[in-house]
Formats: sequence, C-alpha cells, structure tokens
Amino acid sequence: MPMETAPDDCCVKVAVHVRPLIGDERLQGCKDCVTVVPGKPQVQIGAHSFTFDHVYGISGSPASAMFDECVAPLVDGLFQGYNATVLAYGQTGSGKTYTMGTGYKDGGQTGIVPQVMNALFRKIETMRHEAEFQLHVSFIEILKEEVRDLLEPTSMSKSEAVTPNGHVGKVVVPGKPPIQIRESSNGVITLAGSTEVGISTLKEMAACLEQGSLSRATGSTNMNNQSSRSHAIFTISLEQMRRLNPAFSGEVNPNEDMNEEYLCAKLHLVDLAGSERAKRTGSDGLRFKEGVHINKGLLALGNVISALGDEKKRKEGIHVPYRDSKLTRLLQDSLGGNSRTVMIACISPADINVEETLNTLKYANRAR
Ligand code: ADP
Ligand code: MG
Repeated sequence: MPMETAPDDCCVKVAVHVRPLIGDERLQGCKDCVTVVPGKPQVQIGAHSFTFDHVYGISGSPASAMFDECVAPLVDGLFQGYNATVLAYGQTGSGKTYTMGTGYKDGGQTGIVPQVMNALFRKIETMRHEAEFQLHVSFIEILKEEVRDLLEPTSMSKSEAVTPNGHVGKVVVPGKPPIQIRESSNGVITLAGSTEVGISTLKEMAACLEQGSLSRATGSTNMNNQSSRSHAIFTISLEQMRRLNPAFSGEVNPNEDMNEEYLCAKLHLVDLAGSERAKRTGSDGLRFKEGVHINKGLLALGNVISALGDEKKRKEGIHVPYRDSKLTRLLQDSLGGNSRTVMIACISPADINVEETLNTLKYANRAR
C-alpha cells in the first residue's frame, strides 16, 4: 500500500542522453550538430534551445551519473511502496536499447536495467534482517497494440523443439488466450496470462533479461524492424513483509499480524518503439499500419505525460487519457499519482538526424 504523501514535487523528470557519433555516421561524413551549454542541462541545435532536468553524454554530465541521479531514487522508492517507470524515447538508432541495457549483447553492466538489478539486490542484502522479500519479473513487448510475452517458456526452447512431423521449429501452444491488461477495483493494473518469474538471485533476474532480449531480437523474420516498432517492458515487482519490532509499541501484541507491514510496488523499465514518423518506415500497406499503431502508443504516452506535468490542469482534475493505448493502459498505475517517472530522451548528434532529433526534444519538452 503506497504511502499518502507524494514522494516528490514533480512526478515526471526528463533527461536527455546524447550518444557520440557512431561508425556509420562518421563514414557518411556527418557533422555533430548538438551543443550542450556548459554546466547547464540545456541542449542547443541551431537556433533551438531546450532545457531539461539533466543532460548526459558529449559535453553534458557523464552518462555514468545517470543511474545515480535519475534511477537510484526510484529503486529506493520501490522499498517504500512507490511504483515507478523509466522510459527511453527516441528515433531508431538513437541509443534507447544501449541506454536501458535491454539489448541482448549491448549494455552489459552499464545499461540502466543491469544497474537497477545490482542496486536492488544490494539493498535487499542490507535489509535482510528487517524484512522478507519476494521478487517477480515479467518481460513483454507491445507490437501493433498486441501484447507478446518475451518470457514464454516455449519461446526459450524454440531452437530444440521438434514438431510432430519431425520438423524443428517453434512449438505453438494451441488456443493460448492473448495477454490481457486488467484493472482491479483498487486501481492495480495486472497482465493476465503473461509469465511472471519468481526471482531469488541476481543471476536469475539477469537470465530473464537475457532470455527476453533474445526472444525480442529473434521473434520475427524481419528482426531489425520488429524491435524498432515495438515497446519492450521489463517489469520488476517487489513485495516485502517488514517485521516491526514489538518493543516499539510498548507491549507485546497478541495478534501476530499487527507486527508486520506488507508493501508492494513495481518498476517498469521501458525501451519504447522508435519515434520516427510512419512515412519513413516504408510505403507498403502493412508497415504503414504498424507505424500508425506505434504512433498510437507514443502519442497517448505524450498526452498522458503532458497532462500529468501540467500542475494547473492536474489540480482541476483533468482527464488523463490512459485508455487511449495498450502502453498507457499498462503503465497507468505507475505513471502519475504517487509514482515516479523518468523519461530519457535519446538523441544522435549527427546533422542527418536533425529533424528527428528536434522532434524528440519537442516531445520530451512537453513532458516537463
Ligand atoms: P535504439 O535502441 O534507439 O534503436 P541502439 O541502442 O541500438 O539504438 O543504438 C544504436 C547504435 O549506437 C548501437 O550500435 C549502439 O551500440 C550505439 N550507441 C548507442 N548509444 C551509445 C553510446 N552512448 N555510446 C556508444 N555507442 C552507443
Ligand atoms: Mg533498440
């Protein structure tokens, strides 16, 4: 049960991560067109200037500070019962997967998700004598407004699976119902039908991240496009039973339950679909449809976050359009209210990407 008071005055923090020019861009002779104002979280492109909560990379703060400044407080908040969401936004190739550390090979220990895991287990270790913990993870992907389970056991044994006629291939579970987003009467959102893996060690959690990342990368024949058009959501839920010292209450309570406090909270780590416009992803009808659907999630997210960030509107009890997409529906209980949200806008410094980079900064700017 979350505590009554809001943990922070502002519920959405926005950081920008500027990656260096990469091989391809150098080969094409691209120029760096992004400047960071020294000592300020301010990004300039030509005549445009944007201020955020933090700017990392190139001449901004070192990327290594991102976890401590933006994400560690959310991990601490989990232990106090606050839900949280970290979102990586940006065009394909801007560094979202690298930043989150949700790539199968990339990211290693430097990405946000691996650092969250380390911090989580360190904290659990220090609190071992005060509380009992239960951890679960799920890892799903939203593509074309459909939820796909990245931890589904069959997708793990895909390569060895033999079908009845002797062919090696994926085992299709017949009649498996689609995953559904449900809301309980107290506003808690759950994913009915998705795999929730019970976790007791850091190694087990890392294995889930790896398995899901691999499944995401190989889940489609058209692998590169698939991951750029889908939202990948790695969710960690933490339940804790705190032992309250009966000595504090002055007398021994005959009711055992009164000496324990139950808290639960979850953290969503989201590698969003590429933010580039549908027209750039291709001209055939099918692709266009996918592009439209992705825009639906990102569009709804932009509207939700901007509604939450607007203090005045919030006080007037403005309608927050969570129901407009699967993405915002799923994140509903972890965006706004008592939860903390960090959006990391990832950008390329290359001049060929200037149009998309400006779109990203404008989108991120709305979130403040
Ligand atoms: P996205 O997930 O947004 O499509 P990626 O994370 O896959 O983008 O990054 C695209 C490429 O840029 C990858 O080859 C990645 O290794 C590289 N890259 C991204 N961010 C950085 C960074 N901060 N430093 C060095 N290389 C990076
Ligand atoms: Mg990616």
